Amino acid sequence: MTKVLYPGSFDPITLGHMNIIEQAAYLYDKVIIAIMQNPMKRTHFFTMEERYEMISELYKHANNIDVVLGSGAAVDVALLHECKALIRGLRSENDLAEEMILNSANLRICDKKIRTALFLADEPYQFTSSTIVKQVLFLNKDVSHYLDPYINEKVLIKKKEFDKNA
Ligand code: ADP
Repeated sequence: MTKVLYPGSFDPITLGHMNIIEQAAYLYDKVIIAIMQNPMKRTHFFTMEERYEMISELYKHANNIDVVLGSGAAVDVALLHECKALIRGLRSENDLAEEMILNSANLRICDKKIRTALFLADEPYQFTSSTIVKQVLFLNKDVSHYLDPYINEKVLIKKKEFDKNA
């Protein structure tokens, strides 16, 4: 059984992430989505637990997709869950350049035990990112184009909470 890990912030999960998950789930026996605590990203929109609940709900009927919370190095989380590779998505040459640097660091950290498989974003999702979702949202504009309807609903509720506390 070939298991792979898809690490990321998923704050929030977008249709772009979901496109990569769908591509990987078609190829591998199991895809584990790892919501990673990123020490470089000090602010968040959803808490890790909220993201875990939302993504679990999204994939509750998919029997080859699991969700976990992770911290530290993604390759260590992959080893912990007996995954053979990390899955990453590419939107552009910029993503590729970043992934090549990450790949080099990851191979060194794990002594080449975990490899990285890169998937190309399908065309409609090339310009989708969690960052653009938050930027458009805080301009009080519609973000439903980027999100699953269930996630869009949660995003709008969370935005109201932010507005109330502002
Ligand atoms: P982001 O880069 O949007 O902040 P993450 O840290 O959650 O998101 O990214 C996790 C992985 O998903 C990375 O490999 C990233 O390049 C990829 N990814 C994010 N959005 C897309 C998309 N629209 N299409 C393909 N891959 C994507």
